[in-house]
Amino acid sequence: MFNELGLSAKVLSAVEAAGYSKPTPIQAEAIPHALEKRDVLGLAQTGTGKTASFVLPMLSLLEKGRARARMPRTLILEPTRELAAQVADSFEKYGVNHRLTVALLIGGVSFADQDRKVDRGADVVIATPGRLLDHIERGKLLLQQIEILVVDEADRMLDMGFIPDIERICKLLPITRQTLFFSATMPKEIQSLVDRFLHNPVRVEV
Ligand code: AMP
Repeated sequence: MFNELGLSAKVLSAVEAAGYSKPTPIQAEAIPHALEKRDVLGLAQTGTGKTASFVLPMLSLLEKGRARARMPRTLILEPTRELAAQVADSFEKYGVNHRLTVALLIGGVSFADQDRKVDRGADVVIATPGRLLDHIERGKLLLQQIEILVVDEADRMLDMGFIPDIERICKLLPITRQTLFFSATMPKEIQSLVDRFLHNPVRVEV
């Protein structure tokens, strides 16, 4: 049951409103570890409920603390604009009881609206790697307050040539952050990223 995973009352009420009766296997396994602030390596494909397996614990963990201007608290990296937009929709759905600022930083649209969200203090930034680096290079976004990093669809990031960007981004983050890392497969380039940027991760496979 969802109420056995350690999620907050606000999150549980949003899950109920979404009509979910029980957690999927990746959710049941990953959420308690994520709530304990462990790093998680999730081997799961789209359709397994993996988005909620990181969005729900993030919402619970974000209830303590506040974002500062230009210094987001959490960062989610997605390989495509479409996936990034879908994750933003999930934050809206599961975050109905929260008052969080979510900034979607993707290419193809002007910087103005994105800058405004980041200036206000974003609790969550959801980004494609190239656009995120654009914001950083423009001096508009700082990563030193990131508490949680999510790398989603890492094997697709590899196929699209984003691994050097991800390495650059990881090096700008605080070492003490929590990392939640998802990939459907584990080619050696991805394993090498995991070895360098995760700390003693719990491996969850579905
Ligand atoms: P994902 O694998 O994250 O793309 O999720 C696939 C679909 O499963 C989405 O449409 C979710 O709304 C749905 N979903 C996620 N968690 C659950 C759950 N515990 N029970 C029923 N449906 C769910």
